Amino acid sequence: MHKIIETLMHAQKALEVLLGTRPATNVEEVAPDSDESELVDLIVAGYEWICPTCDMPNLEIEATEHVTCWKCGRTFEANLPEHAYG
Ligand SMILES: [Zn+2]
Repeated sequence: MHKIIETLMHAQKALEVLLGTRPATNVEEVAPDSDESELVDLIVAGYEWICPTCDMPNLEIEATEHVTCWKCGRTFEANLPEHAYG
């Protein structure tokens, strides 16, 4: 029993060290010298479909007639939004 408490105390100490040395944020630093405003395009989220072969969710930016699964590489005919029902 004493051994377990000792082990837990060591673990606690290790955790405190880890927490103390951990940086405040994991966000990557952004270059501060870019003061010129840049133009970006707002894009709709896209079209999500589930691969029937590997069940992997895929996201297409545009509605295209054929889609390719990023996971298994298979290409499928897409039921375009204007034809979809349900
Ligand atoms: Zn797939």
